[in-house]
Amino acid sequence: MLVASLGSGSAGNCCLFEADGTRILVDAGFGLRQTQQRLKILGRELSEITAIIVTHEHGDHVHGAAKIAARFEIPVYATRGTLDAAGLDSSELPARPFENNSSFRIGELEIHSRRIIHDASDPSCFVVESRDGTRAGIASDLGVVDDPVLEHLRGCDALLFEANHDLDMLRTGSYPWSLKRRILSRHGHLSNEDSMSALARIVGEATRHLCLIHLSERNNHESIVRAHAEELRAKVGSEIAVSVAGQHAPMPPIEVTRKSGKGQMRLF
Ligand SMILES: [Zn+2]
Ligand SMILES: [Zn+2]
Repeated sequence: MLVASLGSGSAGNCCLFEADGTRILVDAGFGLRQTQQRLKILGRELSEITAIIVTHEHGDHVHGAAKIAARFEIPVYATRGTLDAAGLDSSELPARPFENNSSFRIGELEIHSRRIIHDASDPSCFVVESRDGTRAGIASDLGVVDDPVLEHLRGCDALLFEANHDLDMLRTGSYPWSLKRRILSRHGHLSNEDSMSALARIVGEATRHLCLIHLSERNNHESIVRAHAEELRAKVGSEIAVSVAGQHAPMPPIEVTRKSGKGQMRLF
């Protein structure tokens, strides 16, 4: 399986997952042209995308979804709550509602959804599984990580997980207090510290890739996140390749294979 973030953060989120000829985007937070340009850097086109799955209705995850879906007739999968709140359930759109905490198939990929805690209508995180059993999880915009989400994300070969803010930078930074309170709340975003303590309970034998996503540009820095990830790696004693998704450009694609080596295949 190939996984590549096209960009991640409060200015837009979009991540490509592909295996066995099926290509999906998780979230479409960039406009049509921006998404096209970023896909092109990865050697891909919007016309090759099988489906868009939306995690929740916030603009940084859904901004380009309606236009892209309508133009390229790409079905949009999301919970009914997300579709309604994002205004995506119009007759012009191929909308495909699913229930959280269920699994469904898109082409050759199996998608496992799980409800997360965030200030949105019915938000989701996902594990994307390919035919050979390779699993990649993606979870961001988490106020807190509850036990069902921890359980859901265990056993993934690759994990894209939120590390939103450094607590000191957020507390002493220039954000208005109301916004700070929202970010810090049970329905906001994960601090680096909270992210790492959740990851310490998720990361295991199978985990080979960890990509930190949705970093705040104002209240975090890649070097801080990498230092935290190093500590985590030392703590769990595991060989994990760590990457950090940026906001302004796609990251180099991660080629994910199962730890057992079964079914390894170069796809890119
Ligand atoms: Zn977001
Ligand atoms: Zn959000």
